Amino acid sequence: MIPAGVNSPVRAWRAVGGDPRFLVRGRGAFVWDADGNELIDLVCAWGPLIAGHAHPDVVQAVTNAAKRGTGFGAPTPVEIELAEAIVGAFPSIEKVRLVTSGTEATMTAMRIARGATGRSRVIKFNGCYHGHNDSLLVKAGSGAATFGVPDSAGVPGSISELTSVVEYNDLDSLRASLAIDPPPAAVIVEPIAANMGVVLPAPGFLETVLELAHDAGALVIFDEVISGFRVARGGAQELYGVKADLTCLGKIVGGGLPVAAVGGRADLLDLLAPMGPVYQAGTLSGNPIACTAGRETIRLLDATAYQLLERRGAALQEGLEDAIRNAGVDASVQRVGSLLTLFFGVEAVHDFTDAARTDTDAFASFFRAMIERGVNLPPSQYEAWFVSLAHGDAEIERIVAAARSALGA
Ligand SMILES: *Cc1c(COP(=O)(O)O)cnc(C)c1O
Repeated sequence: MIPAGVNSPVRAWRAVGGDPRFLVRGRGAFVWDADGNELIDLVCAWGPLIAGHAHPDVVQAVTNAAKRGTGFGAPTPVEIELAEAIVGAFPSIEKVRLVTSGTEATMTAMRIARGATGRSRVIKFNGCYHGHNDSLLVKAGSGAATFGVPDSAGVPGSISELTSVVEYNDLDSLRASLAIDPPPAAVIVEPIAANMGVVLPAPGFLETVLELAHDAGALVIFDEVISGFRVARGGAQELYGVKADLTCLGKIVGGGLPVAAVGGRADLLDLLAPMGPVYQAGTLSGNPIACTAGRETIRLLDATAYQLLERRGAALQEGLEDAIRNAGVDASVQRVGSLLTLFFGVEAVHDFTDAARTDTDAFASFFRAMIERGVNLPPSQYEAWFVSLAHGDAEIERIVAAARSALGA
């Protein structure tokens, strides 16, 4: 009844082969499938579960919220509490509107940027994912300084040509694109790319993106749907000491339930209806149960939590690198905090061209060997692995032992 049996394509395991497990329960670092197998989970719902599965504080708060009513379509106090947590964490966010998915956040951010500048073209980076909006499901045309072409059937060429695609960590390609006509409304970027595997911004890259875009009269949208509250409370902006005009959040801000956010300068957010001319709305926006899950999750993220996440992430990286050396396998690990990817067949990945050179067959074999050994990895070479606060030393050791055995095999 459900196309490919899934409600989001990567869940179908097409990139690794085999049939996806149906999961029935999760607790801490573990999930259980419908056949009763226990797995250590490094998917963690694709990022939201930084506190692990079914954290007792989150479950308790969500249960209490549900008893008071599941939604009202009217302002509720918990929306203010979540907004306060977001504004408090991100100095660049003066105001924030809560939406339901990351896709909706990037769509709204682009509409604000277009409304603010009166321009239509946007620039994105190759290999960055910003949800499945028509305007952002776009790949590079021929040559760097050209207009994008649809990356999906059903996206009109007349929409994708309003999006230009440039190379990550390549400022010359950005310069060239900024210079062509029509002038761009916005440059949208994952400040830490995590949808072509984890790819870090080169030193100075983000600062220069901001400078070049602003010189061209364009706004800068940071898509921190993954990195926000993940790499630091204030996301990549805190880690690298930079400030975007508009920031998209998702995943962790909903704590596993559907909440996302677009925030930024007050003058830009005040363009939104009903104060301003940029329309945006949502029946379930700011849903009180979902906002409660986000608020409770963020409450757990103090300085100690990030120290712990860094230590566990580093231990996993070191263990994996040691296993790679021992097995004599051609692979490398890229990490920031609790976010990492093991790439096969390359020494380093700086952009989409490097990512496209990885050995996806080797990854598929590794994935299958890992799940046989009780470890649930994201089912694609191009995804980030998510370590949570529930992944203790013992779980990290078990993952490393499984990797040692899998890489050996
Ligand atoms: C997941 C993701 C999105 C899309 O969020 P959805 O909630 O899946 O619509 C957007 N941007 C980035 C960087 C993401 O990782």
